[in-house]
Amino acid sequence: MAKAPKKTTKKTTLKTSKKQSIEPGVHAHETAVLVKQILDNVRPTPMIHNGLSNEEKIEKITEKFTEIMEVLGLDLTDDSLGDTPRRVAKMYVNEVFAGLDAKKFPKMTVIENKMNYDQMIVVQSISCLSFCEHHFLPIDGFATVAYIPNQKVIGLSKINRIVQYFARRPQVQERLTKQIADCLQYILGTEHVAVHINAKHYCVVMRGIEDTGSTTSTADLRGHFKSRQETREEFLQQIKTK
Ligand SMILES: [Zn+2]
Repeated sequence: MAKAPKKTTKKTTLKTSKKQSIEPGVHAHETAVLVKQILDNVRPTPMIHNGLSNEEKIEKITEKFTEIMEVLGLDLTDDSLGDTPRRVAKMYVNEVFAGLDAKKFPKMTVIENKMNYDQMIVVQSISCLSFCEHHFLPIDGFATVAYIPNQKVIGLSKINRIVQYFARRPQVQERLTKQIADCLQYILGTEHVAVHINAKHYCVVMRGIEDTGSTTSTADLRGHFKSRQETREEFLQQIKTK
């Protein structure tokens, strides 16, 4: 795969260069390796690699969703319903489950922490829209993410993009929380990472218990966020639950 000289260059420039670029499309081969490294360090979503292209997935899901609608007794010759199977298939593959595709992993740039910033960085109220893997109904919430940098910092919008990438999978909130923390810990090279998610699950709202008010909170606190009482409290105080 990646040739040794390339890797060596990466490694030696990591400490001295201003930017470590992980850019899809720019150095496609190199990027594939790096995204693979990131994803190898994130606990996995249970998946099998069926070898289907995105186009093939859309075709197959369109067929299957047509069957589901027919079994439900819906008339697919109706103007309003005819295109629904393909619309759903495209939405699954290209949008709400795009996080199953490693090629959709966001462009990542890590910057050397030249200012030696050593305090907590917190990004609040990150929109966190996902799908419950048990019922295929939406999970609608907010994430708060924090870290204490070591030698690297990351553009703040990258944190939103990481949350969004892993949210765009069929999920359980506990796994989503941990995948975001795993990813940040690996990219930033620090164990001082904290992730909190507060979300409403539409499988709880629309069916089962039908509780419209309740929300679920999950957290993954690592490093100082776990072991130092004051760091933990400072982080938890910043969480706004809506
Ligand atoms: Zn559910």
